[in-house]
Amino acid sequence: MTRMLIMGPPGSGKGTQASRIADKLGIVAISTGDIFRYNVKEMTALGKEAKKYMDNGDFVPDDVTNRMVAERIRQSDVEHGFLLDGYPRTSGQVEALDGFLTEDGQALNVVIELTVPDEELVARLLGRAESDGRTDDTEDVIQHRLDLYHEQTAAVIQSYVTRGIVQRVDGTGQVDDITERLLQAVYSVRERTGNLPVVQSVADGDGGNPE
Ligand code: ADP
Repeated sequence: MTRMLIMGPPGSGKGTQASRIADKLGIVAISTGDIFRYNVKEMTALGKEAKKYMDNGDFVPDDVTNRMVAERIRQSDVEHGFLLDGYPRTSGQVEALDGFLTEDGQALNVVIELTVPDEELVARLLGRAESDGRTDDTEDVIQHRLDLYHEQTAAVIQSYVTRGIVQRVDGTGQVDDITERLLQAVYSVRERTGNLPVVQSVADGDGGNPE
């Protein structure tokens, strides 16, 4: 069973890689960014709320995001495992996710951090702005998203490092090579964590170290 997260800055290619490795592992990839964009496109109430934040490159508020994820990870296609892409990004989201999973008797067992130098990220994102026309891919908004990533997401990654379930993977080079590196990283963390969900308690605050 793989219940995993992939973390990486905007432009790291984590969306592309997330669906590739989820396919290989036979689990569903859940991207909060994709769910928000779908809702914006369909002009749902959630989409209208999220758009205000997304256009400025800000995070959608935790209560909105957490509720959306809680609902998604309880759908039936998730029972064989999942790969979360773009969530959690704040300490509040880490706690919320621990809460949902613990309630269901589950826990994360793999966290992958995909790394790419900032200069390369900015160049990639500006390129994507031209081809896809995403309204959050302007230079100022890109820099803001990178700053937010470094500020907030560092603490998120650190909380999982403490649990011994994080593996860093180099996100530069050929797309296929990166996919292969990611799969190897998933296998090696799963082996380390005994292939079992790491049981952790939110209540006793020990960080859920699996050792
Ligand atoms: P990026 O990798 O460029 O940040 P995403 O597609 O993951 O792109 O997310 C796009 C936008 O959706 C974010 O800038 C943010 O506004 C919103 N979003 C996605 N995931 C989250 C989350 N976990 N918490 C809050 N906002 C989120």
